[in-house]
Amino acid sequence: WSVHKFGGTCMGSSERIQNVANIIVNDDSERKVVVVSAMSKVTDMMYSLIHKAQSRDESYVSALDELLEKHKLTALKLLDGDDLASFISKLQHDINSLKDLLRAIFIAGHVTESFSDFVVGHGELWSAEMLSYVIRKLGVECNWMDTRDVIIVNPTSSNQVDPDFLESERKLEEWFSRNPSKTIIATGFIVNTPQNIPTTLKRDGSDFSASILGALFRARKVTIWTDVDGVYSADPRKVSEAVILSTLSYQEAWEMSYFGANVLHPRTIIPVMQYNIPIVIKNIFNLSATGTMICRSPGDENGDGQRLESLVKGFATIDNVALINVEGTGMVGVPGTANEIFSAVKDASSEHSVCFAVPEDEVNDVAKALQSRFRQALDAGRLSQVEVIQNCSILAAVGQKMASTPGVSASLFTALAKANINIRAIAQGCSEYNITVVLRREDSIKALRAVHSRFYLS
Ligand code: ADP
Ligand code: ASP
Repeated sequence: WSVHKFGGTCMGSSERIQNVANIIVNDDSERKVVVVSAMSKVTDMMYSLIHKAQSRDESYVSALDELLEKHKLTALKLLDGDDLASFISKLQHDINSLKDLLRAIFIAGHVTESFSDFVVGHGELWSAEMLSYVIRKLGVECNWMDTRDVIIVNPTSSNQVDPDFLESERKLEEWFSRNPSKTIIATGFIVNTPQNIPTTLKRDGSDFSASILGALFRARKVTIWTDVDGVYSADPRKVSEAVILSTLSYQEAWEMSYFGANVLHPRTIIPVMQYNIPIVIKNIFNLSATGTMICRSPGDENGDGQRLESLVKGFATIDNVALINVEGTGMVGVPGTANEIFSAVKDASSEHSVCFAVPEDEVNDVAKALQSRFRQALDAGRLSQVEVIQNCSILAAVGQKMASTPGVSASLFTALAKANINIRAIAQGCSEYNITVVLRREDSIKALRAVHSRFYLS
C-alpha cells in the first residue's frame, strides 16, 4: 500500500480536485489510500458558523448556504448524471441536518465540543466523496472511507486524542471485508471514540490521519502533497533564501513541526516511526521537484559530514507565547519547587515548555494557578513574584546532535547579538535536537533571518 494525503490547498477548487484525481490515477502503486482535507477555508467557515450560532447571530444561516453553494458549484464542474444527482442530494441532506443542529445551538447559546466536532467534520466528508466520484469517472474503481468507521481514539489529559491502534485495526478489518478495494479515498481529520461519538484529530489533523492509516495499512510510503517543494530550512514566507531540505530524520521533522513549521502536523511522525515508513513531502504544483524525505536515518545529503553548519538543519518560530518567570530566594535549595511549578502549570495549561513559555491565551490562567499554589510563599516573601512577560516568540534551531556540539550555540548567539536581538530566555539541553531561545515578538522574523543567514550563507 501507498498512502497519499492532499491538504486543503490541493483540494481548493474543481480544477485542483481534478488534478488530484489525475495524480492518483497515474500513480503506479498497486494499492493506495488517498487521504483528503476539506476544500481550503471550509473548516474555518464551519468553525465560524458554529461561533455565529452560539453567539445568536442569525447570519449562520447564510454562511451555511454559502458552503452549500461552494460545494454545489464545484460538483457541477466535476460530475454529471447520476453521480452529480446523488452527490447533490447527499449534500443537501447534510446541510438540512446541520441547519437543525445549528438552530439548536442558536437557541441554547451554547455548543459542546462533540457537537462542534460533528459539524466541522463535514468538509472532509464532502471533499472525499466528490474525489471518489471523479476518480471513478476516470475509470478507476475505488471506495470512499468515512474514517469515523475505522480510526478509534481516546482522549488524553492534555485535550488531545490518541489513536487506539488495536481497536482501529479490528475496525479496519471489518471495513475491508465490506469494501474490498485497491483504491480507497479516506476522509482526513475525522475519527471516532469507543463510545461511537464522532470527534476530530484537531486543527490540521489530516496529516496525522494519513500517518495513522499508513501505520494501519503498513504502507511502504506516506506522501504528503502540499503547496511548497518540501520542508524548507525556514518558513519560506518569512525567509526568502530558505532552502529545501532533501532529507530529515523523524526526530528532526518532529522538532521542526513542533516549533512551528506548519508544513507537517507534529504528531504525524509518531505512527509511522515504529514501522519505519518514510514520509515524503511533495509539491502538487511542481511535480518535478523531488521533495523532502523523512525517515529513520537519512544519509548526509550535503556530503559535508560534521561541518558545523551541516548539523543545523532548520529554524522555526512559534509566535503568540508569553514567558512566566517565578522568582524568589525561597526557591534556592528547596527541592521539588520546579516540580510543583510544573504541576500547577499542568492543571491550567495544555502545553508548556521547559523554558516556561506558554501560549499567550493561556498565560492568565497559568499565572493565576501559580499564584494560588504559591500564595503562602509569596505572602511570606520566599517568592518575590510570578512575572508574566507578554508578546514573546520562541525561535528554535533544529538538527541532529547539534545542541551538544561545541560551537553551534556560540554561532547562534553571535548571529543574534550582531542583529541586536535581545534574548529573554534560553532553553538548552532538553533535547539533543534543538536549541531554543525566547525573544520579543517584534524581533521574530529579524532573528529568524539573522540565524538562517549565519548557518546557510556563511
Ligand atoms: P496544507 O493545506 O497542504 O495542509 P499548510 O498550509 O498547512 O498545507 O502547510 C503548508 C505551508 O506551511 C506552506 O505553504 C508554507 O508556507 C508553510 N511553512 C511553514 N514553515 C515551513 C517550512 N519550514 N517548510 C515548508 N513550508 C513551511
Ligand atoms: N480540515 C482540517 C483543518 O482545516 C484538517 C486539515 O486540513 O488537516 O484543520
